[in-house]
Amino acid sequence: MTQGSLFIVSAPSGGGKTSLTRALLPYLARHGVQASISVSFTTRAARPGEQAGVHYHFVDEAAFVARIAGGGFLEHAQVFGRRYGTGLPETRALLDAGQDVILDIDWQGARQVRQQWPQAVSIFILPPSVAELERRLRARSQDSEAVIAARMDEAHQEIAHHNEYDYLIVNEDFDTALAELAAVFLEPRLRARRQNDRHAALIAALLAN
Ligand code: 5GP
Repeated sequence: MTQGSLFIVSAPSGGGKTSLTRALLPYLARHGVQASISVSFTTRAARPGEQAGVHYHFVDEAAFVARIAGGGFLEHAQVFGRRYGTGLPETRALLDAGQDVILDIDWQGARQVRQQWPQAVSIFILPPSVAELERRLRARSQDSEAVIAARMDEAHQEIAHHNEYDYLIVNEDFDTALAELAAVFLEPRLRARRQNDRHAALIAALLAN
């Protein structure tokens, strides 16, 4: 079985990354691509509506540190003062099962993954303007001005690393950004070498005709 490919998607919060990656799975399935979003480990508390094992594996500091010691992370980082990490055996199992795996991780994690998995494809999603980024951050909750300012600052720090990624997508119109994101996943599969293998019987039949 062909091993799946590893994709990294990063964006500042307010970039629209979560909605885009969620919508990407059914879009890809319609094109015959089985992909899954990796479920990260985190030491932060679950937010209302988040389910353990679905949105994150919520673990305490001791469990997180034990997993680091056991070499159980593909990457891990501190984001907003909390720990986040991608499980190594879990990711390997999905790739070995032929699934494409999407890592929704920050720039620090993206750097670590590139070092260990140079063939990983990385995509950075940009908001369309400063005003829209601020609007999206404000729309998320009724946070204080100080919290909004801190989030804008964090967004700025994330965006500062956009040049480390293979692809940049500006999320102005959702459907357009989704189609662009899907194109990154679909393009390698349409290459002649892959298609020749996949459609060997078809091509042989067409040539024998
Ligand atoms: P949130 O707590 O809002 O779900 O995520 C905060 C940030 O942590 C997001 O930018 C997200 O991409 C990043 N993040 C989530 N999971 C991981 C992970 O496993 N590793 C790294 N490095 N970052 C992560």
